Amino acid sequence: MAKVLSKEEWRRRRRLYAYIKLALAAVLAILILLVVVLGLLKIVRNLFSREQTPTTSTLTMKQELNITEYFLTKNIYSRPGNELKSVKGIVIHYVADAGSTAAENRNYYESLKGGEGGAESCHFIVDLDGTIVQCIPLSEVACASGERNEDTIAIAFCHPKIDGIPTAATYQSLIELTAYLCEQYGLGKDAVLRHSDLGEQSCPKYYAEQEGKWAAFLAEVDTMLAQKKK
Ligand SMILES: [Zn+2]
Repeated sequence: MAKVLSKEEWRRRRRLYAYIKLALAAVLAILILLVVVLGLLKIVRNLFSREQTPTTSTLTMKQELNITEYFLTKNIYSRPGNELKSVKGIVIHYVADAGSTAAENRNYYESLKGGEGGAESCHFIVDLDGTIVQCIPLSEVACASGERNEDTIAIAFCHPKIDGIPTAATYQSLIELTAYLCEQYGLGKDAVLRHSDLGEQSCPKYYAEQEGKWAAFLAEVDTMLAQKKK
């Protein structure tokens, strides 16, 4: 038989239940507060980590610019392995073979290693779709710009037609890569040259012939450089 509780005992029990309910409500409130605070912390941390993301590391460069390393085999015709000691300029070339891709041009440079086709290469080739192939590490010279191989980085870009005009995607990547390299080596747009500025009349055909278009390209590089410095 159930024990009969006295009035006093009932009151005590009701008080106990009230305390338990209060304690549970308090625990719930603390839990909710914790979730909210952790959520806020996460948001704040994300904000800061985005700001702290380095913009100049090699890793970031490869990710942002979509660069694939596809280095040539060391050989005296296209990758002599000589040290690139100081960089005083960036030289822009076109690949000349209309419609050819970056990989095809890279493989062409590689095929020269046997010695049957002269000496030619560059550090970077910007593809028709804006992706980039790197043929030679930046610590070594390329075979692109005559005497200036010793102190310049060479970029060649692909183009769909014989007029040598880059696609919009190629043009954009060319601007970004050039600006990035200028920033890395402390160069201004005056250090960005066409192969034709070094005496090779027809390279890069479109920009060698169209002074206005070349000036526009340099202005775009300059604008991007200014943004990077902010
Ligand atoms: Zn050239």
